[in-house]
Order: sequence, then structure tokens, then C-alpha cells
Amino acid sequence: IQRATQQAFDSLPDAIAVVDTEGRVEVATESARTVFGLKPGVSVGDLPFGWMADLVRDARQESRAAFLEGQRPIQQFVRGEERYYRPEAVPILDNERLTTGVILVLKDVTQLRQQDEIKRGVVRTVSHQLNTPLTSVRMAIHLLLGEKVGALNEKQAELLVSAREDSDRLHEILDSLLDLSRFESGKARMEFRALSPRSIVMDAVESVRREAQDRGVTLHADVPPDLPEVWVDTTRIGHVFGNLLSNALKHTSPGGRIALTAEADEAWVRFRVSDTGEGIPAAFLSRVFEPFFRVPGRQNETGAGLGLAIVKEIVEAHGGTVGVESGEGKGASFSFTLRRVDLFPKEKAERS
Ligand code: ADP
Repeated sequence: IQRATQQAFDSLPDAIAVVDTEGRVEVATESARTVFGLKPGVSVGDLPFGWMADLVRDARQESRAAFLEGQRPIQQFVRGEERYYRPEAVPILDNERLTTGVILVLKDVTQLRQQDEIKRGVVRTVSHQLNTPLTSVRMAIHLLLGEKVGALNEKQAELLVSAREDSDRLHEILDSLLDLSRFESGKARMEFRALSPRSIVMDAVESVRREAQDRGVTLHADVPPDLPEVWVDTTRIGHVFGNLLSNALKHTSPGGRIALTAEADEAWVRFRVSDTGEGIPAAFLSRVFEPFFRVPGRQNETGAGLGLAIVKEIVEAHGGTVGVESGEGKGASFSFTLRRVDLFPKEKAERS
């Protein structure tokens, strides 16, 4: 029986190894042995994968599953082919909840990645292909509405105005999609400048002051003047704030309040846009940064669900991370981090 079990275990596609409390491999699947060198008796710390030892240590010390947060899957070449793995370390607990070992699971996500790439390729091609004809449609509408080719009666003008609105919306969606593909393919070129958090936030506030006033929403910025400078691509960070602030305005009723803050910690400056609006149900929080995701059940939303996906790509292209805290009816608080100039040389910011 043991032999059969070992064979079944061996043929699992994922790389799995059971490690003792000392970090030594006890048993491992065939792929764990060949791809990652996790042979019985080998110490995880002796392998050239620093993240692996970290995960095992975290799982052991904290007695719960450990992942590589926010990182891309690990790439390995297997017989000349690239494969991708998503690692996880799960502690083995005894009755007293003491850790007696760790199971290291390296899930093979190569196929998922390939499917994702195909999907992105389709989106990219389709948006490129739609762009040119849409440009001529918009041009034609523009000429007609300008009565360059003859006078319009009222009904005709009305129809054309609504055609213009729809084609403008389509243009916006395509623009966002093209933007998104540029970031996803790593083709977006970034131009970093050192700027003080305060001036970044003040510019953002200025750009929506009028709109907030018109909607009866108070805008409040609280950024200490002495925060360390951060690396920013000015236009793109303007885009990030533009998206977060227009979302906050959209979802906050008159009398509400939007606050912009920034604070420094040992590695980053964290910016935050908080509102007192309708909020986002907790169940959807993990998905709001996904492309095309929109909170279900909201009738009069016109967006395509790309705004926050772009925010995430831009922030990550700056080397930062995004976050959100909210709950139904509790307002929403979106935050992102940017690199401190004093801790991060420019060349390094630009390379990664
Ligand atoms: P879009 O570009 O269509 O506006 P986003 O990606 O910006 O989409 O937003 C995704 C979803 O998150 C939307 O359904 C929107 O309703 C919700 N959302 C975003 N920001 C807020 C906010 N500040 N308060 C409440 N809901 C929000």
C-alpha cells in the first residue's frame, strides 16, 4: 500500500514536499525533486531559493499557511520549457496545535498563465482593431454636427448628439483597455521625478475642487509638509488620483466628505483617499481592482470597471502596492504606496 501511495503522490503535477521542523525534506513528489531539488534529506535552507526558506519559517513560526504576497509566480525551466509555480507553505499541527512539520506546495500555474496571456492578447488585438474605425465614426459625427455637410433638423441633431456621447464612451473604454495592455505587457515607459507628497496631493485636490463644490462634497487634504519626496511619473499619478477621486465623488452623496492623506513609514509613503459614501460590500473588496469588475446591483453605473485596474497597474509600475478598506454603507478608503527618494536610487526605480 505504501508503495502505491508513494506512486500516486509522485505523479501529482504540483511540486509538494513535507519538511520537518528543522527544515529538512522528508518526502517529496517527483516534480519537487527534479524541478526544485527537494530531495529527502536536503535542507531547504541549502537550496538556492531564499523565498522557500522564508515561507517554511513563516508557516512554522506563525502556525498558519504562508504565501508570497503580491509576487509573480516563480519561473523555472523544466526540460527547456518555462513553467510557473505558485508556492505556499502549510504547517502540520499536532493535537496541541504545535507545528510538527511543514508541507511545501508549489502549485503549477503554467496553464493558468497561458490562458491569461491568450485573454490579454485578444483584448489587446481587439482594442487596436476597433480604434481606427471608431476614430472615423467620431470624425463623421463631428463633421455632421458641425453642419459642415449641410443643415440638420432638430431630430437629426438630437440623434447625432446621443451617437456622439456613446462613441465618446466607447473611445474612453478603448483608451483604458489600450492603457491596461501597455502596462500588462510592460511596455509603458515611466518618467520618474522626485516630488513632495504634499505637492502631489495639492495638485490632485485642485483638479477636482470645482466638481466637489458643485456636488456639495467637502474635500479635505491633510499632508505634513515635511514628508520625504517620492518617485512619480507625474501624468500617471495624476491619473491615479483622478480615478480615485472621481470614484469617491461618484459614490458620495451631498453633505459627505472626501479626505486625502499621506504618511511615511520606514520604506514608503502611503497615500489615501477616503470617502463617506456608500462603500463596497466586504465580499467584493478583493475583486475591485480586477479589470471589468463592477460591484453588482448598482443600476446607473456607466463605467466598464477598468478605472481601478488601471490604478493598480500604474501604482505597481511605480513599484508600489494598492489597498482598499470598506464595508457596505461605511465609506471607502483606497490607498497606495510610492517609493521614497531617499531610500531608493532613481536608476533602480526605473529598472524595476
Ligand atoms: P469604473 O472605471 O467603471 O468606474 P472602477 O474600476 O473604478 O470602475 O470601480 C470598480 C467598482 O468599484 C465599481 O463598480 C464601483 O462602483 C466600485 N467603487 C469604486 N470606488 C468606489 C468608492 N469610492 N465607493 C464605492 N464604490 C466604489
